Amino acid sequence: MSVILEPTTENIAMCAERLRRGMSVAFPTETVYGLGCDASSEAAVAEVYAMKARPQNNPLIAHVTDAAMAKKHVVGWDVRAQRLAEAFWPGPLAIVLPRRHDICALSVGGRASVAVRAPAHPVAQALIAAFGRPISAPSANRSGRVSPTMAAHVAEEFAAFPELPILDGGPCEVGLESTVLDLSRARPMVLRPGAITQKDLEPIIGPVAVPEIGHQAASPGTSALHYAPVTPTELVEEKLLASRLAQLTEPAAVVAFAGTELQAPHELFALPRHPSAYAQMLYATLRRADAAGAALIVVVPPSETGGLWDAARDRLKRAAAKRPAAPPSH
Ligand code: AMP
Ligand code: MG
Repeated sequence: MSVILEPTTENIAMCAERLRRGMSVAFPTETVYGLGCDASSEAAVAEVYAMKARPQNNPLIAHVTDAAMAKKHVVGWDVRAQRLAEAFWPGPLAIVLPRRHDICALSVGGRASVAVRAPAHPVAQALIAAFGRPISAPSANRSGRVSPTMAAHVAEEFAAFPELPILDGGPCEVGLESTVLDLSRARPMVLRPGAITQKDLEPIIGPVAVPEIGHQAASPGTSALHYAPVTPTELVEEKLLASRLAQLTEPAAVVAFAGTELQAPHELFALPRHPSAYAQMLYATLRRADAAGAALIVVVPPSETGGLWDAARDRLKRAAAKRPAAPPSH
């Protein structure tokens, strides 16, 4: 098992030292847990891609303490970027702008741009401050899988890396990955929906384009199967649930709103109706459903729209996307 650590000043300093030596550490943010490394080191970044088995063209977000640090590593930090940082940082918004060369090419899949974000979690802030420079960090899960929202999830994902230190910051408050906003184009565009929405952004910077949910946006790595449990997963609208379950010959793990009535032998993994509570619990609930040993996970997606509901539906669509012929095993 990996090493789960209390986020004491000493442990944070030890993790910052590991980053300086080109090694990786897992740390909490308010969105999901990240697997961090030195953004300027190709060797450190290569190790993170390898640990996750992440395709090297899927760019990593560079985590900074604040706008002052971000500014040093991008080109074109303009009044829009400054206003966004003032309104939403630290928080779940990643801003894409052309990069400077100290953000290494490998960390951004060879792109000319980088997504920068100042996370709101105090442990993330303390780690970046102790390191003193941007930390590249994808979500701390094997590529394509459900993102971790607790230290124990990270330990499960990286059981093969017993030396990996995991700073334990408790359950993530937001629970879904950040909004990714591309500011490098004439009209800003949301590349990945998250807790900060078009409605939040437009009063600050004017018109923002938002591709339809599930649309293959310009953002790499967010299109195909992603955020997926190991167990085959399908989405079924609430009104079709009973008839779908009646067709099944084996028990299903059903992820749906609390209060959903099910016939045995199917088991309910309940989620709350409040959007922020739903988002916060979604990934942990998918993990519990995945561990239940069912042949199938049936998810009833929320029918509500706007804000976090859109972000949650985006992730669920990808979790239930068509799988390769031979699905990866546990
Ligand atoms: P993850 O680290 O797993 O949350 O994934 C980060 C996601 O942010 C990537 O899959 C991309 O979709 C998006 N992203 C990060 N950097 C960039 C960039 N420079 N340009 C466009 N999208 C980016
Ligand atoms: Mg991820």
